[in-house]
Amino acid sequence: MLEITAPEEMRNWSRAERQRGRRIALVPTMGFLHEGHLRLVDRARERADRVVLSSFVNPLQFGPREDFDRYPRDPARDRRLATERGVDCLFAPATEAIYPGEPVVRIAPGPMADVLEGAARPGHFQGVLTVVVKLLHVVAPDVAVFGRKDFQQVTLVRRMVEDLSFGIDIDIAPTVRELDGLALSSRNGYLSTDERRAALALARALRAVEQGWRGGEADARALERRGMEVLRAPGVVPEYLVLVGEDLSPVARADAHTVVVVAATVGKTRLIDNVVLGEGLANDIAVRAS
Ligand code: AMP
Repeated sequence: MLEITAPEEMRNWSRAERQRGRRIALVPTMGFLHEGHLRLVDRARERADRVVLSSFVNPLQFGPREDFDRYPRDPARDRRLATERGVDCLFAPATEAIYPGEPVVRIAPGPMADVLEGAARPGHFQGVLTVVVKLLHVVAPDVAVFGRKDFQQVTLVRRMVEDLSFGIDIDIAPTVRELDGLALSSRNGYLSTDERRAALALARALRAVEQGWRGGEADARALERRGMEVLRAPGVVPEYLVLVGEDLSPVARADAHTVVVVAATVGKTRLIDNVVLGEGLANDIAVRAS
């Protein structure tokens, strides 16, 4: 596996590969890889000849009181996992290489970034989209693969790529969960044993909504109440549980395309999860904890 840290070198490598007629896929991550990231790599491999995995903890998307400094990092382990999974090129730039100074020009994500995660984390999606644009410009892939786990993020990325005519395919991969339903996240490592148990309330709440809908209930507010009852478990501070459409706005009636999005804090850790009703949690990927 090739490892690149300099954006210019990354750009040159991509250009040379493209000139040889190779399709390039990009999997953007913040490192501390887990099976969720690695499934994106598998998917990228199916869609391209060369897979680039970027690992960059983006300071721009963290609020002043968030966990940028203590965000988990393990470059040696990432290198090993990426190599084993067949990544062709690991792009791991230093912060200063991506941001030689404070960027003055940034992406304005519009109103879809003001709700849900954006309401709780002001400026978060401006930071996400700005770094995604930079990575897309440096790597210039044909396709970029994102996880549905971060539903609002991938929705905004898709919308940006469309609205700003990037001409890049945005592919969405299903959420990877542990066998008990907990969605994999680099932040799960913050959870104590008790907190991890409490965190299962998120998947349980999604399942309760899904079962209600499959049972014939289509009123979104009734389904949300049902989910909230399950989410309100000991050790869990619910933030939101909402039924939204593809544009992230709340729906009145649920259908197969409706997405149930949930956020809650367990201990000091903020967790998010979601399910598309028509697909269901059972269609997500379940893996044994590593
Ligand atoms: P992160 O490193 O958390 O920024 O995530 C990098 C990419 O991996 C994003 O596209 C995430 O949506 C995706 N991802 C993170 N966790 C999961 C998961 N459990 N299942 C599927 N994709 C995931």
